[in-house]
Amino acid sequence: MEIDSACPFCEIVAGRAPASVVYADDVIIAFTTIRQTRAGECLVIPKAHIDHFTDIPDALAAHIMVVAQKLGRRMREAFDPLRVGMVVHGFGVAHAHLIVVPQHDPSDIVSGQHAFLDDGVIRFDGNLIPPTQRDELDAIAARLAIA
Ligand SMILES: [Zn+2]
Repeated sequence: MEIDSACPFCEIVAGRAPASVVYADDVIIAFTTIRQTRAGECLVIPKAHIDHFTDIPDALAAHIMVVAQKLGRRMREAFDPLRVGMVVHGFGVAHAHLIVVPQHDPSDIVSGQHAFLDDGVIRFDGNLIPPTQRDELDAIAARLAIA
């Protein structure tokens, strides 16, 4: 499996960076985001370093979606959102990731809390949401853990 030591997600896969894990198997891992758009927001990623989501082999992409489905069902039980959204935008970390968001507002899927106006253009900055403390992320992960 290809691992890129400069990649923060590969560091999580290798166990060298902390993560609040909700699911892991031989080929994928799911964990909470550090900056929670909404409590329970998670990423589902292939363990192998693959930049573009569209380069993920079909069977692995399908597996990612099935785990995201299970995770979304747990989110509905645990956090009672209006909807569970899933999005791949491909920016941020250059290691393919499916974002799974418990949505309490329609703007949650577009990370509305990250948005700001810059001279009439809507821009996004993930740093507008403060990081959540690790113990709180671990508690969220415990509520979402799937087998
Ligand atoms: Zn990586």
